[in-house]
Amino acid sequence: MSDQRPAAPEPPRSRLDTPLDREVGPRTAERLASLGLASVGDLLEHYPRRWTRRGDLTSFDGLREGEHVTVQATVVSASSRRMKQRRGTITEVVVADGDGRRIDLVFFNQRFREGQLVPGTVGFFSGKVSRRGRQLQLLQPDMLLQQGRHARGGLSLVPGPDEQAEVAEDFAGSLTPVYPASARAQTWHVAAAVRQVLDTLVVADVPDPVPDDLRERHGLLPRLEALRGLHRPADEAERDAATHSLRYAEAFVLQTGLLRARTRARLVPATRYERRPGDLLERFDAALPFTLTDGQRSVGEELQRELASGTPMQRLLQGDVGSGKTLVALRAMLAVVGAGGQAALLAPTEVLAAQHLRSLEQLLGPLGRAGTLDGDAEGTRVALLTGSMPAAARRRALLQIVTGEAGLVVGTHALLQQSVEFADLGLVVVDEQHRFGVEQRDALRSRGVAVHTLVMTATPIPRTVAMTVFGDLDTSVLDELPAGRQPISTHVVGLPERPGWLPRVWQRVREEVDAGRQAFVVCQRIGVDVDDEESVLAELENDLEPPGGRPPAAAVLDVLDALRAEPALAGLRVEVLHGRMTPEEKEAVMADVLAGDVHVLVATTVVEVGVDVPNASVMVVMDADRFGVSQLHQLRGRVGRGGHPALCLLVTGVPAPSEARERLDAVASSTDGFALARFDLRTRREGDVLGSAQSGARSSLRLLRVVDDGDVIAAARQDAAAVLDADPELQEHPVLLEAVEVALAGGRDAWLARA
Ligand code: ADP
Ligand code: MG
Repeated sequence: MSDQRPAAPEPPRSRLDTPLDREVGPRTAERLASLGLASVGDLLEHYPRRWTRRGDLTSFDGLREGEHVTVQATVVSASSRRMKQRRGTITEVVVADGDGRRIDLVFFNQRFREGQLVPGTVGFFSGKVSRRGRQLQLLQPDMLLQQGRHARGGLSLVPGPDEQAEVAEDFAGSLTPVYPASARAQTWHVAAAVRQVLDTLVVADVPDPVPDDLRERHGLLPRLEALRGLHRPADEAERDAATHSLRYAEAFVLQTGLLRARTRARLVPATRYERRPGDLLERFDAALPFTLTDGQRSVGEELQRELASGTPMQRLLQGDVGSGKTLVALRAMLAVVGAGGQAALLAPTEVLAAQHLRSLEQLLGPLGRAGTLDGDAEGTRVALLTGSMPAAARRRALLQIVTGEAGLVVGTHALLQQSVEFADLGLVVVDEQHRFGVEQRDALRSRGVAVHTLVMTATPIPRTVAMTVFGDLDTSVLDELPAGRQPISTHVVGLPERPGWLPRVWQRVREEVDAGRQAFVVCQRIGVDVDDEESVLAELENDLEPPGGRPPAAAVLDVLDALRAEPALAGLRVEVLHGRMTPEEKEAVMADVLAGDVHVLVATTVVEVGVDVPNASVMVVMDADRFGVSQLHQLRGRVGRGGHPALCLLVTGVPAPSEARERLDAVASSTDGFALARFDLRTRREGDVLGSAQSGARSSLRLLRVVDDGDVIAAARQDAAAVLDADPELQEHPVLLEAVEVALAGGRDAWLARA
């Protein structure tokens, strides 16, 4: 029977996969789609942002212009007037929060609002925050009133401007969830849909990734119950129990995924690189002009054991700025090369790759010039491969790499292209991971070779973050700085209270230069070069950004002009370094900086990562308040590397006291990168801290807060390890397996699926 009808769409595998239009109707489904919610499961995992007690007013304190907000507020007054320029009326409704702060609700041609929003009415108001003068306002907000003329008993949805329907809503408990909303889907639309769905779900519809015994051991709620408690709690206790249960589940699924990835990667054997007496590394160590720190020595031994083990290394090396990670990496690389393999060092930028090449060549001396006249025949060669190399140089490098003539290869992501063939790649070192996308790391692994991998990060990562973001890697920490490091003193230069201090800053720079040192001045943006169309366009785009009325940040090109005209710096060579320069221009400037020919380098944060100019002793950060704490710590780490006492000046136009100034004071008062990273995590939004590494795992980090939930994460990791121990492929745990795959899909662990 050959029927020509198109195949029926596949039935959803479970209730959670059911498209929302089948559950809540096309109209609501369309609204929910504006929040990216397509299925029942999506909706249930759209967790409330907060809960409000019925009648409790929302503080207006944190409202920011441009944000879409939902507030619970009480009406103070309402009045209408004719518009001056046009026909029609404006109705202005003043609403207040519990502290008497006020905002305006503004409606056009809706006089009836006056009768509806009588003083004393309490309701939810939802819309985008805008500003007129100093007054914040919501234009044409949607609303849900609790008492008012149109209320029938409980709450009623008052039609918004684009809507005629009136939807009655009741509340199960005294706590009302407030959801992340959009202009199309208000929190009460979400609430109504969630209720509709939750009411008809049964336990079998919501399989639980957490195995029963773990749930019992930790006293957790079954998943459906937890979802009910989160979306429609009767009271705080119920909500908190639900939150705890779902948070644990999140941590557990994530840790299971990460540990499973880790185990899987270990199944593929890697080449053993064993040490021999008199090998390359031994010769290198003998020629090293300084002694290793204890940390460098012990981490080095750890790495060598791993390289010789036959199991692929997957290690994260953390160390504060200046702790000497590069040397640790180089020694591991030499162990590999000495045993007949090749090693690659990947840098996040061309500037850094070029610098690594220089510092490797310098550290290696004759050992890095095998086959040349003044080289050591027992040594090796270092090749550089970057994206922007001229074709001839590139061909030469590729040849050295494929023949194995170059034991060490330094490069950017260009090294990961399929066309780059190695004779025998044994170890890849990824420098400054936080700038190096997870995708790049994946690209390495998907080449099918079990290459030893060492990831280095200069941003100290608190343990729980490491466990979450790099949970598939083992961790080593370099926790001391090489002897002889000079202290860096850090000062906040607050221009609001000391407007005359900027010239003082340049005088200090002058003094350092006169003493033979060099200075960095870091700015947040590049600025406009009127001759360069691209730069003008880029700046225009930048300018659209801050509507808040803050003056634009100091720009590299403007500061360059100012400093070249600055009397205190007369006669000094001031140059710039930024992302719009060509690789050759950057390389040329960096070479002059290293040669000591440039006295003051004005740059963007391209100097943030890893730049090593031992003679630099002053770091001036303009608009320091616009940088993160860890970023400032990185910038500061660029000076004080050469045995001279160093100075870091954080210039800011933000008055104290303020949160921004507190952050700057924190940087000024501590040089402990780990402590600052913890501080940073507490004060910034998580996503900013985790950067791209987190974006892939976003879908799984909903309730989990890596700063606060260390205990949960640690417990979940232990539990996950035990489960995987007993059942490595999760054959007995199909629900968990699916949850793991969904949570990590497409993001940082896409390679999990490919493996
Ligand atoms: P990181 O990358 O960890 O910030 P680097 O590897 O750039 O630090 O090292 C900073 C500087 O310290 C480099 O100039 C390096 O040569 C030097 N260095 C590394 N280890 C030692 C040591 N044990 N003793 C003295 N100087 C060292
Ligand atoms: Mg470094």
